[in-house]
Amino acid sequence: MKKISMQTPLVEMDGDEMTRILWKMIKEDLLLPFVDLKTEYYDLGLTHRNETNDQVTIDAANATKKYGVAVKCATITPNAARVKEYSLKEMYKSPNGTIRAMLDGTVFRAPIVVKGIEPCVKNWKKPITLARHAYGDVYKNTEMKIPGPGKVELVYTAQDGTETRELVHQFDGPGIAQGMHNLNGSIESFARSCFNYALDTKQDLWFATKDTISKKYDHTFKDIFQEIYDSEYKEKFEQAGITYFYTLIDDAVARVMKAEGGFIWACKNYDGDVMSDMVSSAFGSLAMMTSVLVSPHGYYEYEAAHGTVQRHYYKYLKGETTSTNSVATIFAWTGALRKRGELDGNQELMVFADKLEKATLDTIESGQMTKDLAAITSLKNPKVLDSEGFIKAIAQRLEKSL
Ligand code: NAP
Ligand code: MG
Repeated sequence: MKKISMQTPLVEMDGDEMTRILWKMIKEDLLLPFVDLKTEYYDLGLTHRNETNDQVTIDAANATKKYGVAVKCATITPNAARVKEYSLKEMYKSPNGTIRAMLDGTVFRAPIVVKGIEPCVKNWKKPITLARHAYGDVYKNTEMKIPGPGKVELVYTAQDGTETRELVHQFDGPGIAQGMHNLNGSIESFARSCFNYALDTKQDLWFATKDTISKKYDHTFKDIFQEIYDSEYKEKFEQAGITYFYTLIDDAVARVMKAEGGFIWACKNYDGDVMSDMVSSAFGSLAMMTSVLVSPHGYYEYEAAHGTVQRHYYKYLKGETTSTNSVATIFAWTGALRKRGELDGNQELMVFADKLEKATLDTIESGQMTKDLAAITSLKNPKVLDSEGFIKAIAQRLEKSL
């Protein structure tokens, strides 16, 4: 069989621990036999990040700006224990944070829906994709404990020195106060990423805030979304047959529970933090969540939503068998290959991505799966495969379908 060729390389960001092991297996068994894979390789494994003082992460983000599409393996975000374990020169920042800041992107998380893994919410038939604004609000706040009676104010000092004041509260006893901010530029980027991704995936976009209570702060989010929608996206949405829908956050939550899925839900930072955990756990498994970083300039970075599965890696190192789920990492590759195919007009590559996804889902639906899925499946007598066995089973199906 002739291998599928590629025109433009994908930016490949390798990672850590168990997912690094899966990464290699996926390439060897599911990609290299069928695709003449072109990638520009960046090793974001913690050892190499340390060797390069984390320059490799910056280089990888710049390469993503150059080529447009990247695929990333899960990586360790160092904490004190990791600094010791890897003898790090410093406690490097999260690679995802560095890349997201450089690409000014929004992360979209979507569950992989498959027969046999049923969501807890029984009317959810299609995936709900969650988009979280990843800048500001309570995550960059300033807080104060107010010891006793006194006045708390917000003060804005303009460059010419003029002051504008708003009373927060006249305290007559102890309490607490908080100041937070956001930036119009960041909200605009968030809005454009959401509108672009809705068009890309032909799904409706929902956005919700608490604008009835927060008449300036949240209302600004609502207004910026609406202005950008009206001036840049309205016609494109109409042509694509999708809608942009704004509502109050309480109403959105109620509607999400009754909906059947198949839309993108854009959330402010805190709402997205909380709701993404709710949506992903209700869909079944962290190992079945994909994640894509979409920049307002049209760069894409695909990855699994889960981490490096450290516990399984230590078992692997001891020579014990592991049964680690590779589905989200496989879908990171298919997402990236499909997008690359779309941008390059490479139909064959797009079809390959579809077939690899189908082979993966068919394998699970036939009852062959990893341990984590076997524990929650509604299928009778699932066959538990080890990490490699599962990938090999997919490879067999894939080969037949090509
Ligand atoms: P994790 O790697 O997502 O794993 C947490 C637990 O979830 C695992 O121990 C495992 O449960 C289960 N799990 C997750 N993915 C699975 C899969 N593919 N197959 C089977 N089970 C899976 O999170 P963590 O242990 O909190 O973090 C480990 C490292 O990952 C940390 O260093 C963290 O910094 C990093 N991290 C990276 C990213 C990223 O790069 N995007 C995201 C999150 C975390 P059982 O052990 O019970 O089987
Ligand atoms: Mg959270």
